[in-house]
Amino acid sequence: MSERVCDEVRSVLPGYVDGSLPRLRRSLVRLHLRRCATCQAEFSGQRQVRAALHALTAPAESPPTGLLESLLESTASPRGAVPLRGAVSGARPALSLALLAAGAAAGTGVGYASWLSARVVRRRLRH
Ligand SMILES: [Zn+2]
Repeated sequence: MSERVCDEVRSVLPGYVDGSLPRLRRSLVRLHLRRCATCQAEFSGQRQVRAALHALTAPAESPPTGLLESLLESTASPRGAVPLRGAVSGARPALSLALLAAGAAAGTGVGYASWLSARVVRRRLRH
């Protein structure tokens, strides 16, 4: 992969992440990300930072509908050994949240995990 292309892609990544990039450039970036692990990693990092910042600055909001349920369902399957249901209904909400975040990060709900950890950080800042 040519470095010039990588430089160009990275220079427009913020616009790609926040959706302000014109459609044609978006698809070019998307194509490149599919083939370039380095830029893909950079993109994931920027997206996580953005998600965390968004959760910190935005008013309290609910996680996407159905996401929590599907997370719980996937971890409650025979393959998922983590006793997540018990943890969530446990007596210590903070601990449950941490377990949930860990479970989500280990599974497919990485977006939800960053949303959740940002909420935890914000809660800590307040106290
Ligand atoms: Zn690249």
